Amino acid sequence: MLHRRAFCACASAALVSSFASNNADAVEAACAVMTGDRQRALNPDEALARLKEGNERFVAGKTINCDLMQQARETSKSQAPFAAIVSCMDSRVAPELVFDQRIGDVFCTRVAGNFINTDFLGSLEYATKVVGARTIVVLGHSDCGAIKGAIDHVKLGNLTATLAHIQPAVTASKTSGERTSKNAAFVQTVAETNVRMGMAALTAKSPVIKGLVKAGQLRIAGAMQDLPTGRVSFLA
Ligand SMILES: [Zn+2]
Repeated sequence: MLHRRAFCACASAALVSSFASNNADAVEAACAVMTGDRQRALNPDEALARLKEGNERFVAGKTINCDLMQQARETSKSQAPFAAIVSCMDSRVAPELVFDQRIGDVFCTRVAGNFINTDFLGSLEYATKVVGARTIVVLGHSDCGAIKGAIDHVKLGNLTATLAHIQPAVTASKTSGERTSKNAAFVQTVAETNVRMGMAALTAKSPVIKGLVKAGQLRIAGAMQDLPTGRVSFLA
């Protein structure tokens, strides 16, 4: 009996120590800044997996704390982000936070309603072709004010022209209910359609991005963030 108890204590101590060292390894890996070598060692699927794992940590309340000033110093001379994220400007959709990423990890291009226009295409061509990001994620979110504004044909100063970029997604989305922002299901459908149209625009309007995808050097993904849970669901 004594013998058995001693064995159990020893085995659980080993488990704890193995967990601690795995955890320390995970922290060290997450806090190591992206360098050209680290970026090139990732293929597009691995880059996407890195974002998905980060969101799992965020949702679980297990984000990793790193020394951000140390990262700022280490990345001050050059950057090699592994991903580019196109998202809404919404204050609750903060890509670095919801994907648990840090200084030098990801490019973020943001605008109300996360649509793709020429300025975004140019920025993303730089992020991928020039700097080598391995994946582009177009990230929409639930209960998006810009999507609601486009659905309701809101007019206000320059915002009118901004929301016009979302209108094709409104037109292409179907609903059996009313076509207003009061229809929550329709708002979600338009947001998803907008993400899919953004993904399609990346290759349709940029031969540079299309070439990288064709060569297997870049993967485009679309996703929706659920505001109440923080969970990012990738579109099939
Ligand atoms: Zn939004």
